[in-house]
Amino acid sequence: MQLDSRVPTGPIEHRWDQAKFEMKPVNPANKRKHSIIMVGSGLAGASGAASLAELGYNVKCFCFQDSPRRAHSIAAQGGINAAKNYQNDGDSVYRLFYDTVKGGDFRARESNVYRLAQISVNIIDQCVAQGVPFAREYAGVLSNRSFGGAQVSRTFYARGQTGQQLLLGAYQALESQIDAGRVSMFPRTEMLDLVVIDGRARGIVTRNLVTGAIESHVADAVILSTGGYGNVYYLSTNAKGSNATAIWRAYKRGAAFGNPCFTQIHPTCIPVSGDYQSKLTLMSESLRNDGRVWVPKQKGDNRRPDQIPEPERDYYLERRYPSFGNLVPRDVASRNAKSVCDEGRGVGDTCLAVYLDFADAIQRLGASTIRERYGNLFDMYERITGEDPYKIPMRIYPAIHYTMGGLWVDYYLMTTVPGLYAAGEANFSDHGANRLGASALMQGLSDGYFILPYTVGDFIAKNKADQLDTSHPAFREAETAVHEMTSRLLSIQGKRTVDSFHRELGKIMWDQCGMSRTAAGLDQAIVKIRELREQYWQDVKVLGTGEELNQSLEKAGRVADFFELAELMCLDARERNESCGGHFREEYQTPDGEAQRDDEHFSYAAAWEYQKQPVLNKEPLEFEYVHPSQRSYK
Ligand SMILES: Cc1cc2nc3c(=O)[nH]c(=O)nc-3n(C[C@H](O)[C@H](O)[C@H](O)COP(=O)(O)OP(=O)(O)OC[C@H]3O[C@@H](n4cnc5c(N)ncnc54)[C@H](O)[C@@H]3O)c2cc1C
Repeated sequence: MQLDSRVPTGPIEHRWDQAKFEMKPVNPANKRKHSIIMVGSGLAGASGAASLAELGYNVKCFCFQDSPRRAHSIAAQGGINAAKNYQNDGDSVYRLFYDTVKGGDFRARESNVYRLAQISVNIIDQCVAQGVPFAREYAGVLSNRSFGGAQVSRTFYARGQTGQQLLLGAYQALESQIDAGRVSMFPRTEMLDLVVIDGRARGIVTRNLVTGAIESHVADAVILSTGGYGNVYYLSTNAKGSNATAIWRAYKRGAAFGNPCFTQIHPTCIPVSGDYQSKLTLMSESLRNDGRVWVPKQKGDNRRPDQIPEPERDYYLERRYPSFGNLVPRDVASRNAKSVCDEGRGVGDTCLAVYLDFADAIQRLGASTIRERYGNLFDMYERITGEDPYKIPMRIYPAIHYTMGGLWVDYYLMTTVPGLYAAGEANFSDHGANRLGASALMQGLSDGYFILPYTVGDFIAKNKADQLDTSHPAFREAETAVHEMTSRLLSIQGKRTVDSFHRELGKIMWDQCGMSRTAAGLDQAIVKIRELREQYWQDVKVLGTGEELNQSLEKAGRVADFFELAELMCLDARERNESCGGHFREEYQTPDGEAQRDDEHFSYAAAWEYQKQPVLNKEPLEFEYVHPSQRSYK
């Protein structure tokens, strides 16, 4: 496989302008003759579909929820970064670029990250124009707070509901295009295959989740904005429906999969409480602006937090990282939480938790200020745990939250299949081995509002599509494959539920390809995953039929894909004999327990190619502007 990142040359600050100038425009009158499929209606999908339709293209947009506004993006809490420097605290495009490259532990492509930082400022203007109610200072200026891995305040927010408010903005834009007849919306429709004709993506095969009908859709280009695959771990902060099926099936049709093992563990989630739990809840990173993280100094100290005096508390992040304190990046905060718990200093019933304490902030600022900033998050915490975080410190523990890996894309967000694009969390771009907080929303909206409208048009202008329709044999072949997989799942009629297999797979992944990994553990995981997958295809029980609403069948297909993806993740983690960002291989650490990169051998983005045995291709990463160094937040 030939990997060409198509990164423009010249000074980094001019590359995107240069690339846009060199793109071939489509005549405005011709745009409506071209059709584009957008799979996904989260922030990346809705913004992309609306913007492309606004330009005049015919867009078909698909999502599996009953409404585009239920996409998982709605769950995003804390905020969205932008280098506006409203605080006059020294922020700049260059600083955001620098923080993001460093935060990703030097495993992202510099040119993409620079463009992201440049576009960040436009996103805020776009969203304000749409009426997104960002928090404001008394004088009316947009307010900011800090997120991990940055020493400036550049995070714009709408209380703890930033994703919801941003999605409502993108959804309105999308709805107006639906109303104008330029977007056809297909809710409750799941993409189950990609159709590639003469080496170019030309359409998709879908299942109507209400009637079970399998249908084909043809287009000049296809975009996957289908979100992340954190649910491979079963327990995660993602919405229960989030899955990898679209990108996995595209991988099997030729799209390379980038850095599958790069997974983000978020340090501040409500701890697991029992075996029957199916979902984890995030407590936004923004809480670390005011909350202080601590555990008792003594092992096994099970006194109530208010009975542990100050000198007997270990504010371990403030102690170990005096410059960044509680706002170290997520990978660093998560590993430290794990290590104090492994030492026997964890708190709560399971001893797998640390405190996030607001007592100081409440004393300094008053409870009403804290309520204004985080009220909905505090309420959510209290509803779930039964404890009042205004009075008792929150108990938190790391959990799977985000996947930096995804389909490999070039600078134009095109995958290795011509005409197939990937945007938002579904691609591998921009965050390297660790995403900084509040950067996912920025990336999704940058891709959708500001990059795809140019790059997809350029492709359409330069690559004339043959006239064809869904009677083409490639559509028949893909439909048959979808029918066969559905029938096979329904015919097994074994003894175990899909969820029971999924839970077991998730445990293997969490234990052996989670917060820390070893070569031996990954080898074992690969064997266990293969065995469990074999059992799955012999013993899973899927009730109902294919011709009706059947959520058990939907899940069964997604879990079948998770099994295959899980193996690739372990293979990728096994291959990368270094630690970087969220990928922590125990064999490779500095004397004080930080991730130890090996730039000489691993300064590349992995792009896995689907073959009988997956083939690893490498995109070398070059750093002209931010020189790779040992990350330090001390
Ligand atoms: C609890 C939580 C809080 C977060 N808070 C923040 C935050 O404060 N700041 C930040 O920057 N990031 C945050 N993130 C991360 C961020 O929310 C996500 O990365 C981002 O919203 C992903 O957007 P997306 O458009 O790529 O995908 P999604 O919003 O996941 O949308 C995916 C879309 O694809 C559709 N889809 C998927 N598969 C198929 C298929 N096969 N067929 C048809 N349709 C399909 C879905 O229906 C959906 O419409 C948070 C994440 C979580 C879990």
